[in-house]
Amino acid sequence: MSAIATESLPDARGHFGAYGGRFVPETLMHPLLQLEEEYFRAQHDPEFQRELNYYLREFCGRPTPLYFAERLTRELGGPKVYLKREDLLHTGAHKINNAMGQILLAKRMGKTRIIAETGAGQHGVATATVSAMFGMKCVIYMGEVDCARQALNVYRMKMLGAEVVPVTAGQKTLKEAVNEAMRDWVTNVRSTHYILGTAYGAHPYPLMVRNFQRVIGDEARRQILEKEERLPNLLIACVGGGSNAIGLFYPFLNDASVKMLGVEAGGEGIKPEKHAARFQGGSLGVLQGTQSYILQDEFGQIQLTHSVSAGLDYAAVGPEHAWLRDQNRVEYSYATDEQALNAFMKLARLEGIIPALESSHAVAALIERAPKMSKDDLVIVNLSGRGDKDVSQVANLVKL
Ligand SMILES: *Cc1c(COP(=O)(O)O)cnc(C)c1O
Repeated sequence: MSAIATESLPDARGHFGAYGGRFVPETLMHPLLQLEEEYFRAQHDPEFQRELNYYLREFCGRPTPLYFAERLTRELGGPKVYLKREDLLHTGAHKINNAMGQILLAKRMGKTRIIAETGAGQHGVATATVSAMFGMKCVIYMGEVDCARQALNVYRMKMLGAEVVPVTAGQKTLKEAVNEAMRDWVTNVRSTHYILGTAYGAHPYPLMVRNFQRVIGDEARRQILEKEERLPNLLIACVGGGSNAIGLFYPFLNDASVKMLGVEAGGEGIKPEKHAARFQGGSLGVLQGTQSYILQDEFGQIQLTHSVSAGLDYAAVGPEHAWLRDQNRVEYSYATDEQALNAFMKLARLEGIIPALESSHAVAALIERAPKMSKDDLVIVNLSGRGDKDVSQVANLVKL
């Protein structure tokens, strides 16, 4: 396999091979072009990087540990397992890395109002948090169904001073919330920045969010070299839109010996409307600004999805992942709800760590794969978030 020229991707219009791009109405072109220009300027400005690093360290709690999971390693009897502890960040997940980067960009652009979409509420909470911290007005769009399912996160966002707008269109979930956020952005673009929560959407979002999340992989690479004096054999991360996974993978893409595994939500199995594994049942299409793998029917209608974990429950996957899959650089598999729940319990009991249900999909893939690996191998699993938010849901599913 030839080396991937990571620094040069995507092309100027945001294409990762056949994927990505900017499929938006004319009215969104200007704000996206302006954002792209400002982002590239900030990215190369040492003062912006210094400020971002300061807040990531002092407010968010970076660097996160790369923790040797001794009991899990022994139990699985395979490779030496390290956990990248994004669950220890402020607000409980990797989402704050991106929210912090984007709000500093918004401040620099002179914006005074922040909007965001959220599904389960994790990105909404991260965005409301950084908005409170910088004194910005914050509006979060959230499907009405999700508002009911995640009432605690709705209250949390309100405590932080955000306005939460329930979206009643369509299926009343994440997809409709994104549409509303885009509509707001077009109308209020002079004052407003849209903090999109994953490595998805129109260019420059997939690239920008990946760059704000690559701190995960940059740290992990440095940490594993310090601890083991060699690179890992395998990286594992769950894939919703794809931001925690690309954040871990990206700094290792040119290390040909490092294999990578992205884990999608297999839900109740790979049957229409019962899962969210875009690489299992999906096909090429356009949704919400970008071209990628999408769960759609033969007429291009977006299919219903299901996962026990709200953060993985989306019909499309980030374009860079689709491209990395075509190159055979990253392998993509899935874990079912049941496997994820088992992994959730196993990590709690063996390591004293309650992982997010999303992250539990990555742990489930580890459990499946470890017995086939050598004891000399090293694996890094990205623990994208903590499971406190999931405890009441799991209590309804698993009787103890
Ligand atoms: C949102 C979320 C995810 C899924 O989003 P990605 O962009 O694919 O990372 C995964 N884990 C946690 C804890 C989340 O909150």
